[in-house]
Amino acid sequence: MSKTRATNNCALILLNPCRSLVAHFSHCGRWCPLKRRLAMSKAILLVDDEVAILRALQRVLTRAGYRVFICESAAAGLDLLAQQSVSLVISDFRMPGMKGSDFLAQVKALYPQTLGVILSAYADREALLASLNSGAAWKFLEKPWDDAQLLKDVEAALAEKERRQAEIQRTNLLLSSDEALLELSASGVVTRFNHAAAVVLSMPPSELRAKALSDIFTDINPIELATFFHKKDHDICLQSQHGDAISISHRISDIYHYLLKLTLVDALSSDVFDGLTDLLDQNTLLGRMEDLISVRSGPFAVVVLTIANFQNFVDTLPESVLEALLLNIGQTLNRQLSAKALLAYVASDRFVVVFPAIKHESAVQQFIGQLLHPFAQQLSIATEKVQLSFTVGYALSPQDGDSAKQLLHNAVTACHHNEVNPKAFYLRYDRAIVELKRQQFEISNSLYAAVEEQQLQLHYQPKISLLHGRCQSAEALLRWHHPKMGWISPALFIPIAERDGQIQLLGQWVLEQCFAQLKQWQQQNLGLQRLAINLSGRQLQDPNLPTQVQQLLQKYQLDPDVIELEITETFLMADIEQSRLLLLQLKQLGLHLAMDDFGTGYSSLAYLAKLPVDVLKLDRSLLIDLEDSPQSASMVRHMIRMAHELGMVVVAEGIESKGQVAILRDMQCDLIQGYVFSSALTEADFVVYVSSNTGQTQWEQFAND
Ligand code: C2E
Ligand code: CA
Ligand code: CA
Repeated sequence: MSKTRATNNCALILLNPCRSLVAHFSHCGRWCPLKRRLAMSKAILLVDDEVAILRALQRVLTRAGYRVFICESAAAGLDLLAQQSVSLVISDFRMPGMKGSDFLAQVKALYPQTLGVILSAYADREALLASLNSGAAWKFLEKPWDDAQLLKDVEAALAEKERRQAEIQRTNLLLSSDEALLELSASGVVTRFNHAAAVVLSMPPSELRAKALSDIFTDINPIELATFFHKKDHDICLQSQHGDAISISHRISDIYHYLLKLTLVDALSSDVFDGLTDLLDQNTLLGRMEDLISVRSGPFAVVVLTIANFQNFVDTLPESVLEALLLNIGQTLNRQLSAKALLAYVASDRFVVVFPAIKHESAVQQFIGQLLHPFAQQLSIATEKVQLSFTVGYALSPQDGDSAKQLLHNAVTACHHNEVNPKAFYLRYDRAIVELKRQQFEISNSLYAAVEEQQLQLHYQPKISLLHGRCQSAEALLRWHHPKMGWISPALFIPIAERDGQIQLLGQWVLEQCFAQLKQWQQQNLGLQRLAINLSGRQLQDPNLPTQVQQLLQKYQLDPDVIELEITETFLMADIEQSRLLLLQLKQLGLHLAMDDFGTGYSSLAYLAKLPVDVLKLDRSLLIDLEDSPQSASMVRHMIRMAHELGMVVVAEGIESKGQVAILRDMQCDLIQGYVFSSALTEADFVVYVSSNTGQTQWEQFAND
């Protein structure tokens, strides 16, 4: 923790790294190759009733690397926007049919993330001002234009668009995340924060607003702080006005704003540390480890023990009992250790043991087992009985780090990883852990551009009726082609998007695409009766969801009967009463609702009867050994019968063999979804599959086999 007292105003230091970055971009006036590359992926729509103007503009912008679409009327522009995601719309003002101002107002209402600019020679001043004031148009550019100036204006508009988009992302995070988040302007002043941040800082919201960091924390070291803002790749620990140690890390920061995550490091008073003075503190431990390294005393192990669910103890035990508990743990650990081992207490819930002279890794595991043995039983502290468990991670010297700091850091990383993603009783540090974290970080970062740069697609997996073999419905499944990492499974990126708040935008995109797609298929008379769309738990927590769905139904003039929303069992069961209310709202709109992944959670059909669900999707894991296990078959038969009694349609998911199909047909399951018929198909392949009745041909073949 930084103990240096602040004397400087941190705002000045904060500005420097950002300013230099801004300067770098804005002084680079020529159309440099970097900009060209950046522009490559940006799509611009030009709308003007004069074809010659459209062509001239298109030439300039295409040469500069933009993807340019042109339309001769506002109506054609709106049609194009329904199919194509576009960053910027440049529109003429006076056009036959719809005026530029009305057109951009509609664009803003339908695609709030697209920026509108007016390019016109003579504009009706009043309408133009109204359009600028309402925010429908961001700027007015004049005809005739100068090519170089136009490119600069376009670049500025795209930067503005990116700034707005980043703001929406931060807003989503601030609204949806459980983490404590604080937004700072580039000059270091608090602009926004969520409730959790005010709680962590123990400050009423009115006091936090518009404060500088130096008003919130007491031990700011300006150089350390400047490095933190400049590099953005490590945490910093500062002391709040109330004396709490708060760890701060970057959540998403750009050149205009920092969104910081705050974590309370030390929920205890310093008295507790004093009570444990028999044990080493972190600095002394690191010094002793450096000694071990410098005298080449041989391999040693650094073991980090974190008390599992420590916050529960902090919340429920009186402080005196908590202190006695920690003392007891320290003494118990100490009793198990040889004189040469080192024991330190480094954070409220964390002890570190160093075992010297380790010959084999198996010996480390054995030592840890012995060390924790006394905690298998409940501890009696004052009048309380406490059952403890520990999360353990370790690192070995010399293999897992060159310095004491590095070794401790790596052991903590392993421990933390084991906590979030339990793998082993005692997890050794592995570069792969860091690699995984880095990959998740990269996925999270590049997901922001994925919608924009059209790296996302929906594929459609047929559901085949066991009654007649026709494909009358399908499930939309998201596919992401990352420019560097290739295809990434939704099973990997959806949980990341849920964690970092991006799921709202992604989910919105999926909904919009599905509605537009359904409309198109209806116009083509494809004969598909229903499309199922996956909703994540986070999306369902958004109170605007029913309104959003209703607006889409109106926009695309679709009968709600064609839409099915798939909701996972685990989400529905988390809060059954709240789920019921939300599902009722969606049901009132006339949609179909499906319970997805049934069989992976703990719900029973009895619970299910309380929810207004029309479709039950049996998870693949229930059906995988249908052919080999009579118990499994009997359970599935029972489930299908019960679901039918509750009036539900049953879909069997992940079906790969004809044998499973035959059994499920015998059980009167309604629909089959799985590789045995087809995996998820691109839109073009799906249309061929449906219109050529491939499913039915396969179904007839299976029946004859
Ligand atoms: P899910 O909703 O349970 O989707 C079914 C998954 O099983 C899909 O994986 C599908 O490709 C796969 N599958 C289908 N048939 C078979 C089969 O016969 N055998 C096997 N082994 N697998 C089969 P996918 O596309 O990788 O999606 C994984 C999960 O990602 C989905 O599970 C869903 O939870 C989530 N997901 C996909 N698209 C979206 C989306 O648009 N929004 C949200 N919120 N989640 C999505
Ligand atoms: Ca699903
Ligand atoms: Ca499923």
